[in-house]
Amino acid sequence: MARIVMKFGGTSVGSIERIQNVAQLVKGEVDQGHEVAVCVSAMSGETNRLVELCRQTGPLFDLREYDTVVATGEQVTVGLLAMTLQSMGVDARSWLGWQLPFRTEDVHANARIEKVDTAEIERRFQESREVAVMAGFQGVSPRNRITTLGRGGSDTSAVALAAALRADRCDIYTDVDGVYTTDPRMVPRAKKIPFISYDEMLEMASLGAKVLQTRSVSLAKRHNVRLRVLSSLEPGEGSLICSEEEIVEQDLVSGIAFSKDEAKITLLGVPDKPGTSALIFGRLGDASINVDMIVQSRSSGDGEPATDMSFTVSRADLARAVALMEEIKKELDVAEVSFDESVVKVSAIGVGMRTNSGVARRMFETLAGLNINIQTITTSEIKISVLIDEKFIELAVRALHSAFELDAAA
Ligand code: ADP
Ligand code: ASP
Ligand code: MG
Repeated sequence: MARIVMKFGGTSVGSIERIQNVAQLVKGEVDQGHEVAVCVSAMSGETNRLVELCRQTGPLFDLREYDTVVATGEQVTVGLLAMTLQSMGVDARSWLGWQLPFRTEDVHANARIEKVDTAEIERRFQESREVAVMAGFQGVSPRNRITTLGRGGSDTSAVALAAALRADRCDIYTDVDGVYTTDPRMVPRAKKIPFISYDEMLEMASLGAKVLQTRSVSLAKRHNVRLRVLSSLEPGEGSLICSEEEIVEQDLVSGIAFSKDEAKITLLGVPDKPGTSALIFGRLGDASINVDMIVQSRSSGDGEPATDMSFTVSRADLARAVALMEEIKKELDVAEVSFDESVVKVSAIGVGMRTNSGVARRMFETLAGLNINIQTITTSEIKISVLIDEKFIELAVRALHSAFELDAAA
């Protein structure tokens, strides 16, 4: 007998027929004698609809109330799945985030999980092997308010539940049959990756591959949760996210990720003296704006020494970041502040880069061959990212996918 957490995303619970399909998969595990906790998302499209309703109330809505609204999508699917399981003769009960509870920090719209209390569902496992049907995405703050975990947060709910239950497996069922070398919707010749290390998956997720929420992967790594990504619609083994040591064959580059959620801010003529970067990025940090790629170069021209500085932020933070930079422009006597929303980030990821130095060169030559200008570059031990004009995104992703020999055989 094993203890299993099964997570189903929006497409997998998008209709009553799909929920019946999910219930069959759950029943399959129960019939094998396993203890099962299920974690579900809202029906596909529902969270987007709820977010849009919040936006329609005005631009500066209260995030506490946003959480109250957007958490409702999951309340519907847990109830429907529990009912469907019961109608199939499977003992099941639904749980909302506050009922278990999933305790989070006191942050809204993007809260971190601090503790999951599983005592009651473990008692019920023992008593009657009752299936726990948990609402993903939801938590409760220290002030007893409903919180949510950020978009895609049900993945993190499932992993946190698996860690707290010391589950043998955490299976993430979605609308693709595994993790691919890049988004198969952009590159039809993308290949399924049977085994991928936590570190590579972490980079893939944080650089834009939304198949798993980034936090779910870091949590799985920290607690050694065996995480699988598989399809709820077709049978198959899916992809296993595991430690690097378990992977026998390792490609130089495992995948290409891309993110359209990028915006670049440029400051021209920043006085070249100690403390300017600390002031600029300190101000952004105080406003909880994450900055990603940063470049600084000496300004051309005569006069006082000055530098030009560019950095990227997410598109959602752009307006706030530009407003802060306009304030700093006056304080520091910066010559000009401008921004560009038509940029995207494309990244190559692979633990093979640790030992092979040719990846950057191949990446730059591939883009040069297509006459694509690189605006900014960042690297880490296992990834290289470039910022380019958004109109080249498909061309760049497909060309890099081929250049690193990731294409499936035709
Ligand atoms: P769910 O609703 O089940 O959580 P998501 O839409 O959040 O599903 O994530 C699945 C989607 O992630 C896929 O449909 C696919 O388009 C996208 N995706 C992006 N990058 C990858 C990748 N490298 N491998 C697999 N899927 C990817
Ligand atoms: N329903 C939430 C969302 O759409 C959480 C999730 O699906 O993981 O972001
Ligand atoms: Mg998702």
